[in-house]
Amino acid sequence: MNDNDAGIGGLQMLDDGDAPAAPIAPIAPIAMEQPAEAAPATAGAGGGAHARVLIIGSGPAGLTAAIYAARADLEPLVIAGFVPGGQLMITSEVENFPGFPDGIDGPTLMANMRAQAERFGARLHDVDVESVDLSERPFKVDAGGTRYTADAIIVATGASAIWLGLENEERLRGRGVSACATCDGFFFRDRKIAVVGGGDSALEEALFLTKFASEVVIIHRRDEFRGSRIMQNRARSHPKISIEWNSQVTDVLGENKIEGLELTDTRSGEKREMPIEGLFIAIGHKPNTEVFREHLDVDDKGYLEVADHTRSNIEGVFVAGDVHDHRYRQAITAAGDGCRAALDAERWLEEQADAGPATAMPAAGETVSTA
Ligand code: NAP
Repeated sequence: MNDNDAGIGGLQMLDDGDAPAAPIAPIAPIAMEQPAEAAPATAGAGGGAHARVLIIGSGPAGLTAAIYAARADLEPLVIAGFVPGGQLMITSEVENFPGFPDGIDGPTLMANMRAQAERFGARLHDVDVESVDLSERPFKVDAGGTRYTADAIIVATGASAIWLGLENEERLRGRGVSACATCDGFFFRDRKIAVVGGGDSALEEALFLTKFASEVVIIHRRDEFRGSRIMQNRARSHPKISIEWNSQVTDVLGENKIEGLELTDTRSGEKREMPIEGLFIAIGHKPNTEVFREHLDVDDKGYLEVADHTRSNIEGVFVAGDVHDHRYRQAITAAGDGCRAALDAERWLEEQADAGPATAMPAAGETVSTA
């Protein structure tokens, strides 16, 4: 979980001679080293680890929850994902996270959050969740071949990049097609590349790519951007950036590496080809909720539902960050959400303890209404 489909490690630009591609050095390991020896976890059912608070996800929401839960002496265990750190690991400059007047790059921000959580005793395991059983307490989570159990869970699995869904887009992924400018921009020095999308992500990627590319073409399906005014102005005024309005990428051309695009005019249906040496997709994200759907309520877009602040429909399971928030989706709002979820989990655990053993663990599968 928490693995952006752009896949930091997964985006391997293959070296095929003059292709804009060489094996990419993954960003994640630079900053996200697993401690040589993870702190011992309490033995749980099935020989795995037990945590009072198990946090699933290691983006700003999960790591902020870990900092707060650790400082509350809850000894949280974070299932951080095989590719930890969330979407900020593939974000270049973060200029709007308070406290960094000169900006900070995403991977550094995440490494700092991780170090801060570990400083207070949070344990982080860089494995993906395979399945969950939230029907009774302690809750059960299978991840990386290990059974974890938990009294309370905070779900902070974020959202992943969406692709166009074209056959040749998938075939040429890593051969000039990418969803991660930070990871791959370096390989497109002095080349003409395209960015698809009209939101802040596309504008940000396009601006970042101007550092390397000779020319950046933003391809957008409408005639106006969705992104913020400041980013629009920056992109529109940049000498290396041009914009193809009302255009949809309908095919990606090239045998062993990308050589061009088939574009379709969204008003007339007319098709044309554009030679291009790189393609970056920045058209939004989908929530990472698959493993929870049997137990947790989702909305029509697949995002987790919350009620009563950060509570899910299952008592003891809390939700934080982009996995439920498709309105704000900012690092700072996700971090704030992680804080709220940790405080709610802490209070809920205290209530359980105060209520005594008879009521501390309500009946298996007991749920609360989200109405
Ligand atoms: P977004 O705002 O949802 O924008 C997605 C863009 O992709 C839209 O322009 C959309 O077109 C286009 N699109 C969607 N599906 C498409 C398809 N199949 N083919 C072609 N185009 C498609 O997503 P985002 O840009 O990732 O931003 C998400 C949130 O994060 C926003 O709230 C944004 O402000 C925030 N964000 C902030 C920053 C920052 O502040 N530095 C940076 C990145 C993101 P339409 O416009 O026609 O729908």
